[in-house]
Amino acid sequence: MKRKKIPLHVQILMALVLGAAFGAFFNVDSKKLDFILLVNGEEQSQVVNNWDSIVVSGAAKDVSKVFSSNDQIQIVNYFKRIPAASRRTLTAVVHKGHESQEFTNISAVEKIGTMATAIRPVGTLFIRLLSFLAIPLVIASLIVGAASIKDIKKLGRIGIKTFMIYISTTAVAITIGLSLANLIAPGERVSDEAKNRLLGTFRQESPESIVKDIEIDITDFFLNIVPTNPINAMGEGNMLQIVFFAVIFGVTLTFIKKRHSKHIVRFFRGVSETMIKMVDFIMKIAPYGVFALIAATIADFGFDILATLIWYMFAVVLGLILQTSLVYSFLVKFLGKTNPIKFFKSMRNAQAIAFSTSSSAATLPVTMECVENIGVPKQISGFVLPLGATINMDGTALYQGVAAVFIAQVYGFDLGIAEQLTIVLTAVLASIGTAPVPGVGIIMLVMILQAIHVPPEGIALILGVDRVLDMLRTVTNVTGDAAVSVAVAGGEK
Ligand code: ASP
Repeated sequence: MKRKKIPLHVQILMALVLGAAFGAFFNVDSKKLDFILLVNGEEQSQVVNNWDSIVVSGAAKDVSKVFSSNDQIQIVNYFKRIPAASRRTLTAVVHKGHESQEFTNISAVEKIGTMATAIRPVGTLFIRLLSFLAIPLVIASLIVGAASIKDIKKLGRIGIKTFMIYISTTAVAITIGLSLANLIAPGERVSDEAKNRLLGTFRQESPESIVKDIEIDITDFFLNIVPTNPINAMGEGNMLQIVFFAVIFGVTLTFIKKRHSKHIVRFFRGVSETMIKMVDFIMKIAPYGVFALIAATIADFGFDILATLIWYMFAVVLGLILQTSLVYSFLVKFLGKTNPIKFFKSMRNAQAIAFSTSSSAATLPVTMECVENIGVPKQISGFVLPLGATINMDGTALYQGVAAVFIAQVYGFDLGIAEQLTIVLTAVLASIGTAPVPGVGIIMLVMILQAIHVPPEGIALILGVDRVLDMLRTVTNVTGDAAVSVAVAGGEK
């Protein structure tokens, strides 16, 4: 009997659900720590559980610290940040009831992994495979795309249109974020006790280096799009520079004699076809990769924090849903002249990959395939999507809007129209400057907070749930890029 094959998107969806269940079942115990000690030059592991408090002390005054029973993540991060040599000079005393245990010669302090965290490498392998595809795929498809457009005016028109739609969707996204944050007022719903706990316990996690100055200079930003060395740009994976170089290269090909250019175009067409075939191969292991990524993330996640930040999360998630379902449906239908249901159906794989990898860049090859399936020509998707992955982050911008207002509310700052407009402006810039990889959105938030004079340490409040929100906002980021490619293609029909 021949078995019917389950379609890929169903397999990926099943992997998401099963992975989440697996991760929840094999959850990392938040009351257990592994002290790895150096005894006679050899590492020895000592497991500690259900401590009441852990007191760390050392020769230097400022290293002393008292941790409570809920502080597992803080303890792990504290030891991680201290250089290995100084770590060994510290003494940790673990108190439990009437007993206490003293540790010296500490080499590391870690959480105890489970089966779910042990399979993380499968997920990492999947992300790496997708990521290596992205740059050759973008270069090849852009060169072929630009060379086949031939008409420089058309290219300019597509470029300007793409840029305008990207900026507009981002502005709409932040406006939605700001409106919801003002309406729901999540910051006013956090109890004083919870505020202190969040600020106190997570403060050490907001690295001082990012709390310093992150500034985007507009002139520099535009100048930086032009690479001085395209090979370096490729080496560093600087998408904007790569896009710039590949477009200029592709367009210039149309200005030289056909007998010189035709082999080059044919070569890059071959490269592009090969990369697309590779996406197909790699997607065969997508269900396993997705399962492993979700399982490891859920297993590692501290659920206790969810209740405290529930209104904040509600505002972000509601905003992301509105942006994704309403704004993009509108774009796809009216500018793209495509049925939104058909669009969302074809986007399922890219959305699942975005959710599990939290990286628009790693998802890019899959996004390109998804929009080509609903008839967006390669010339357009090859140009619009890589650009979008780099400069268009609606989900991130929306989340930054909510987060900025939330943090201001917690600190008791009143944000007037001027400050809210500043958020819109800086969030648009931040969205352009944010790299499409996991967790960068929160770093750019620092810049926004500085612009409205709210203490940047406030990001400590929301760090605990950032991982989940990163997954969700990446789905919006990727869907937004795809919707714009459909819109641009619709206008060119
Ligand atoms: N992870 C997001 C992305 O890759 C960026 C962010 O918001 O951190 O699209």
